Amino acid sequence: MRQLLLATRNPHKTQEFSAILGRDYVVRDLTAETDLPAVEETGATFAENAVLKATEISRRFPGLIVADDSGLEADALNGAPGVFSARYAGPEATDDENVRRLLQELSSHGTRPPWTARFRCVLALVRGGEVLEMFEGAVEGRIVASPRGSMGFGYDPVFQPVGFERTFGEMSADEKNRISHRAEAIRLLRAALASD
Ligand code: IMP
Repeated sequence: MRQLLLATRNPHKTQEFSAILGRDYVVRDLTAETDLPAVEETGATFAENAVLKATEISRRFPGLIVADDSGLEADALNGAPGVFSARYAGPEATDDENVRRLLQELSSHGTRPPWTARFRCVLALVRGGEVLEMFEGAVEGRIVASPRGSMGFGYDPVFQPVGFERTFGEMSADEKNRISHRAEAIRLLRAALASD
């Protein structure tokens, strides 16, 4: 069994990692580490933020650390919310508030739904403060005019991947994990760890 510490407090991300990495891995995250200060995500790109999070956590914990930075890029908004996806409607914004702001911005933009967009995910694999490797995944799709489904998290209810009629919010975890941006990046991570 290999141990992996995920630099996240998002239980949805942790579930996706556990499901895709499978039984050979014990995946822990930071939910139990209540006194740990939040890492400031000051990077201009997903890659910069993933490295920031992973190296900061790797200063405090031994072993392999993985950080995920991810988000949604809407073409009509020139790539926004991008690295601001988690806090689009404000620093403590809920998923619903972020989705509402996204739909407001897109509607006030004068273009019509559905709007082309993609989810991106960048993973940083770090040990002892040193970046070992980076992995990326992306999934193209469309943002629909009103949320559908209650599965997943974040912008899942408004994201309809290319080739599907349903949104991520209407898909089971297994279905999402076959095609998502995070699944693609995690499979690359798994392959790199397996050949290590
Ligand atoms: P991070 O935790 O700073 O990487 O922020 C990621 C944010 O991007 C999340 O809070 C969501 O708003 C959005 N996001 C990233 N991946 C997904 C996904 O798989 N589904 C829905 N929203 C996502």
